Amino acid sequence: MDTPHFVHDCDDCHYLGDTMVDVFNSDGVLVSSRFVDLYFCASEPTIIARYSDEGPDYGSGLEFGIINQRAYYRTALVRALKIPAFRDRIVSYCIQYLPSYMKQVNELLQST
Ligand SMILES: [Zn+2]
Repeated sequence: MDTPHFVHDCDDCHYLGDTMVDVFNSDGVLVSSRFVDLYFCASEPTIIARYSDEGPDYGSGLEFGIINQRAYYRTALVRALKIPAFRDRIVSYCIQYLPSYMKQVNELLQST
């Protein structure tokens, strides 16, 4: 939890801890679970889920957490919103660039 599982090369990223994701085979059967590292990147700002040491093996998108596209993006966003400086950065970014998501953002703010 305290230290990332995978190499991540961005000085602007703040580690938010890990989470577990289920891994399914092609028949949709749960075969295992694995760690994902979660980050808040202050430069964008965005949330990031890193899956391995491979440079491009990550996903990012503030809106993924807002619309709860994957549970781990939502987990990352909720953790970032609990840190006041990140919350202010996220809210001001959403007001300016993602105004159509402000209803969901405000609901998240009230529940965190
Ligand atoms: Zn970053």
